[in-house]
Amino acid sequence: MKSENGLKKNKIKKLKSINSAMWGYFCLFALVLIVLMFSVFSVVTVTTLEDSAKQKIENVGKAVCAQLVSGGDLKQFERREDGVNVYVFSQSSQLLLPENGVAQEDSEAKFNEVQKQLENAEDGQAVIYRDKGTVKYAVEILNGQGESYFVLATYSLFVVHETLSTMLLYMGITCAVALVLALLISYAISQKFTRGLKSMSDTAVNLADGDYSVQFTNVDFAEMAQLSDSLNYVRDEVKKSEDFQHEILANVTHDLKTPLTMIKAYASMIKEISGENKEKREKHLQVIIDEADRLTGLVNDVLSVSKIQANINTIAPKVFNLTELLYSIINKFGYLQETSGYSFMLDIDQNLYTRADSEKISQVFYNLLGNAANYTGEDKTVYISLKQNLDGKRIKFTVRDTGKGISKEDLPEIWNRYYRVDENHSRPVKGTGLGLNIVKVILENHSFDFGVESGAGSGSSFWVDFPSFPAEIG
Ligand code: ADP
Repeated sequence: MKSENGLKKNKIKKLKSINSAMWGYFCLFALVLIVLMFSVFSVVTVTTLEDSAKQKIENVGKAVCAQLVSGGDLKQFERREDGVNVYVFSQSSQLLLPENGVAQEDSEAKFNEVQKQLENAEDGQAVIYRDKGTVKYAVEILNGQGESYFVLATYSLFVVHETLSTMLLYMGITCAVALVLALLISYAISQKFTRGLKSMSDTAVNLADGDYSVQFTNVDFAEMAQLSDSLNYVRDEVKKSEDFQHEILANVTHDLKTPLTMIKAYASMIKEISGENKEKREKHLQVIIDEADRLTGLVNDVLSVSKIQANINTIAPKVFNLTELLYSIINKFGYLQETSGYSFMLDIDQNLYTRADSEKISQVFYNLLGNAANYTGEDKTVYISLKQNLDGKRIKFTVRDTGKGISKEDLPEIWNRYYRVDENHSRPVKGTGLGLNIVKVILENHSFDFGVESGAGSGSSFWVDFPSFPAEIG
């Protein structure tokens, strides 16, 4: 047992704990979420900011063109605060805006760039393009006098990228905090789980060690409460079965002891006192024989149960005279009539045949008659009947006593193995709580109906319903 447990523990060690699994899954979840958020956020922000930058330079470019067409002042477009730079060139590459000018080289480069961009554009059509970290707007425009101008508006995305990286930095910090929080929360939750499971496992170990007072009480979560309930149920059932085992052991040892003591006592008596007195000796020998019979009965009961347990209790049915079989069993109880004042009141139809395993059915009769004799009232009367019904197809066996009867609560239980209604025997009996269980298993194997009618104080009537067969068959 110990080595088995050890093996299991080794296996358990190889498994992942809820704690680490939960940590792992939470981290993975948080990381996937963060990566997803970062990518979506960066793509969306960059495209949105770029679009708005393009919109901005397009608006400024259009305003410059309108001013050129109307011959207005261009000064307002110089040194703008919104970050847009505007350059205006005459047809002959002369820089008109900014008025302060720029380096000659720079001016030429810009003019050439505009020319190049507009190479494939239609007349008056603007081109918006991106050049490294800057978005640009270029267009050629004719004023009322037919003079041609080139306009270039630029907007550096440096600020946009700057803003984006600051935002990403804050987002990163937020995500890191979220990750730490996720870890803490996952730890707290898994702790709650594992604490509950650990305590249940400890309680179960105590139960396995035989402490039936343990209580599974985890009610943190519905599933755990259900598990606790089931384990409490298991505890009750294990205890019941253990109690049964103890009870049967106590019963069997007690019931073995009494006849053995009697046998020893009577044997000694014969040896020392009654050896020479024939009459006394016969009487004492009869007691020894009776007690030996009781012992045999008891051992047979235990053996029958073992056979039933081992499932080797197959039936060998044949047609036989049920009436005769019943008489032969009643005769076995004859000694009760002769020695203890019992009366067996019989109402038995002659020559009734049935098809069954006669040996097993004789055990059914024996157990039911034995119980009736054991539990009947002060009048020591037992009523036995075996009657064929009107259509001749069925035979009903009934054995009735006048004893205390069986209460409603006990009625469904008496057929269970080892079940004994408190110690209410009217006289010493060999009771083991096995007799009725043997009856039940045998009759169920035959698929015969059977039952009991009883109420506290009104005696009990056990019955079995047999199929009727003609004598010739078999
Ligand atoms: P036992 O060997 O104890 O008689 P059984 O399985 O034959 O065991 O019966 C189970 C229990 O049913 C008995 O302990 C007894 O309490 C109750 N019982 C059985 N037959 C009778 C009866 N005829 N009258 C009253 N109680 C009975």
